[in-house]
Amino acid sequence: MTYVITPPAVPAVAIAGTDDLFPVNRVYCVGRNYAAHAIEMGHDPDREDPFFFKKAPDNLLAASALDGGGDFPYPPKTSDVHHEIELVAALGAGGRDIAVDAAMDCVWGFGVGIDMTRRDLQGEAKKAGRPWDTGKAFDHAAPIGRLHPIAETGPMEHGAIWVDVNGERRQEGDLNQLIWKVPEMISYLSGLFTLQPGDLIFTGTPSGVGPVIAGDVLSGGVDGVSGIEVRVV
Ligand code: MN
Repeated sequence: MTYVITPPAVPAVAIAGTDDLFPVNRVYCVGRNYAAHAIEMGHDPDREDPFFFKKAPDNLLAASALDGGGDFPYPPKTSDVHHEIELVAALGAGGRDIAVDAAMDCVWGFGVGIDMTRRDLQGEAKKAGRPWDTGKAFDHAAPIGRLHPIAETGPMEHGAIWVDVNGERRQEGDLNQLIWKVPEMISYLSGLFTLQPGDLIFTGTPSGVGPVIAGDVLSGGVDGVSGIEVRVV
């Protein structure tokens, strides 16, 4: 048997310091996971269970600062695209109903990504009670830097996270402000889905989200992993 069309390429993320690639299965994202960001979006951070949405694996955009960054084409059907800088956990193992104290064993490593968001389309979807896909899962919506193995990074429980736009600091926080910690997110997700090696988890963004326009250069990072650089074109 042969495929009737050419199979799509396996989406993959570069590994820092090597030519190796991390093949990507699913891309989970958590919403409102820093209190100050939940408040800026009009929600009470103390009263919610975690909630998740997904991007498509082929939304990933290679954007390592080490490699000179990536071009993010300003997407169609929007006039309000926002940056959300986020720690990304990459899973090397998965499963169902994973206990919190076993969850870190699933983590292959970490990197930094930007959850690019068509905020106007997301806002319309929220108002209408519709899915967020048009706001979150569009082409190039997930710029991501090089990944580092957990043996190198440790568990990433604290450390600065930031993004600058045209050299000006726009978002800034610390990983210790995550409402739902990485092992808690893995455990919770594994109750809903069978997690797989190759899954990525975008772990939420600190406050300061805001719009980008063509010509902007975004430069972001998390202490301990390779930085990210994105040019809006
Ligand atoms: Mn986000």
